[in-house]
Amino acid sequence: MPAAAAPPEPLELRPVTSLRGVGPALGATLARIGLRTVQDVLFHLPLRYEDRTRVVPIGSLRPGDRAVVEGEIQLAEVVFRRRRALLCRIADGSGSLTLRFFHFSAAQQESLARGTRLRCFGEVRSGPGGLEIVHPEYRTLAHGVGHPASETLTPVYPITEGVQQGRMRMLTGLALAQLTDGGLRDWIEPQVLAAARMPKLEAALRYVHRPPPSAEIELLNAGRHPAQRRLAFEELLAHQLSLRLLRQAAERDPARALPRRTDLVERCLAALPFALTGAQARVWGEIETDLARERPMMRLVQGDVGSGKTVVAALAALRAVEHGAQAAVMAPTELLAEQHARNFLGWLEPLGVRVGLLTGRHTGKARAALMQDLASGAIQVAIGTHALFQEGVAFDQLALVIVDEQHRFGVHQRLQLREKGLADGRYPHQLVMTATPIPRTLAMTAYADLDVSIIDELPPGRTPIRTVAMPGTRRDEVVQRIEAACRSGRQAYWVCPLIDESEDARYQAAEETAAALAAALPGVRVGLVHGRMPGRRKDAVMTAFKQGQLDLLVATTVIEVGVDVPQASLMVIENAERMGLAQLHQLRGRVGRGSVESTCVLLYEAPLSPVARERLAVLRDTNDGFEVARRDLDLRGPGELLGTRQTGLMQLKVADLVRDSDLLPEVQRAAALMLAGPRANIAALLRRWVGEGERFGKV
Ligand code: ADP
Ligand code: MG
Repeated sequence: MPAAAAPPEPLELRPVTSLRGVGPALGATLARIGLRTVQDVLFHLPLRYEDRTRVVPIGSLRPGDRAVVEGEIQLAEVVFRRRRALLCRIADGSGSLTLRFFHFSAAQQESLARGTRLRCFGEVRSGPGGLEIVHPEYRTLAHGVGHPASETLTPVYPITEGVQQGRMRMLTGLALAQLTDGGLRDWIEPQVLAAARMPKLEAALRYVHRPPPSAEIELLNAGRHPAQRRLAFEELLAHQLSLRLLRQAAERDPARALPRRTDLVERCLAALPFALTGAQARVWGEIETDLARERPMMRLVQGDVGSGKTVVAALAALRAVEHGAQAAVMAPTELLAEQHARNFLGWLEPLGVRVGLLTGRHTGKARAALMQDLASGAIQVAIGTHALFQEGVAFDQLALVIVDEQHRFGVHQRLQLREKGLADGRYPHQLVMTATPIPRTLAMTAYADLDVSIIDELPPGRTPIRTVAMPGTRRDEVVQRIEAACRSGRQAYWVCPLIDESEDARYQAAEETAAALAAALPGVRVGLVHGRMPGRRKDAVMTAFKQGQLDLLVATTVIEVGVDVPQASLMVIENAERMGLAQLHQLRGRVGRGSVESTCVLLYEAPLSPVARERLAVLRDTNDGFEVARRDLDLRGPGELLGTRQTGLMQLKVADLVRDSDLLPEVQRAAALMLAGPRANIAALLRRWVGEGERFGKV
């Protein structure tokens, strides 16, 4: 009896090392950029494309073009100007062009002799003697023989050290060759694809890796080609499904109902030095209703900076305490956790509630004691960083989890908390808070597992912040202004620039700025706070600033989230042109919290790019976070509003929530259709697209 042919092994199971030429060493390098299987290679998409399918007449070149040209070498010489360089002049009858090499071997120099024909590719710029290409890719051509140009547009991939473009192209070529035997299933049901008018997966993958010469390169480079959108659609659909499943699962989960029980909340409200705004009261009402149910609350509270989210969170925590249960508040930075702890202490301790703070800086005995009190339930409201949810931290009866500035955390961190609170088969209620205003369709996608409440009103008595932009050349003037302000009893922040990516350089810059300002302003008491400082010192500096013992606080962007010092009314932000709108708005939100008029000075280095100029103008024009977000969408380069630093929304590989936002309604419809179909397809789709840590839906 003939053996039945084994079905092809799915590409998601085939390791990259099964590709020709990929040994264990290259396999390990590829794994570092997440390429472990043949499927991973297929979903590793080009960053952009180059057109090397046509040889362009030299005479038609413009600076900035990336083009293929052919020509004969007229002249080759080594020159010594500032640097030794090999210059090679080629001509094709329509014009001539210089090739400039700073690094070259003797053999190379020899091969580039007068009369040789070359085909080159590179970026054209204008040089001292006309147009030139520095270090072109090139090869010599034999005379009288036709040489075919590339048959497809050339994909340019994200690469890593040890894997060159050429190698990556070869790998995707090999992976595409394996695509023929049905090893990669299209998990989206045909009728769903048809309804969304999307091409088939295989066709889309072939297209994005090897677009034909006729493809519209601008469309591809903008990530807007139908083939690219097909893949973005699939990824967004997978995330949407995972969140909806999470939501469905949560709706079946039992939770401890927390209806009003004692008058703790009322007493807290009565003791506050202010009345809740209408928006705060409405949102608290929504939370109260959720908490009274036997299903876990899953609610997001969105509110602009300064809208007063903290006090609403405190009321929710008190409701848990009314039932003899615990609440936990997680903040993204130590600074913020400490500030929350101070606020909660002020509000809750007079009511006899015990508040505890646990951050990474609690170690040894102090940590052990805290953990003991958390486990016994002696601490009723626990505040901390993610340290709260590390291994070994146990609660007695955690009934409510509050996550502040949720965009700083990933979905899976929220889910971890949920598991942490699981007691007697009951899940904790979840309240997440964010100051990142996002448009409704985005919110429905990114937070598909949550109900959303919006605090759309600022507390009364706030004077709008006056925002001015000034070139760095007027820095001295600004420094003088700080002196005058501090002399008249005002307090100020000075936010240091993000000089580069290196953390160390950042702290150093902050230290130098603080020292320089202290020297320039002898009458002003200057403090410094940055993320690297030990928690205790940070805390001491913040307290001193809050109590008015410091006039000027120099800081890195650690103060971007949440910090609340109502008396501070002046903020200077250095190198504002390098920051995104959302971040600048967050930073600026640190002032304008009291009744005196606040000013925010945006210092920039000229010349400003048109987009940077627009950004600064937006901040000058409006104080409203939603308006800032809307204008950000119009302006932004990808990744800014929902930026790479704000990864909490979603970890996306291919799709871009903003660029692809027009796909979202279709994604919602498709998700509903898929949920009515077989679960096995959904499970497979999640395996393909959704990170291990976030694959929560028990499909
Ligand atoms: P955010 O929403 O940015 O987290 P906070 O909760 O830090 O804002 O509140 C900002 C400031 O406004 C705090 O000093 C807080 O005490 C104060 N505040 C909150 N609610 C009110 C209110 N209803 N009336 C007056 N001040 C309020
Ligand atoms: Mg806050």
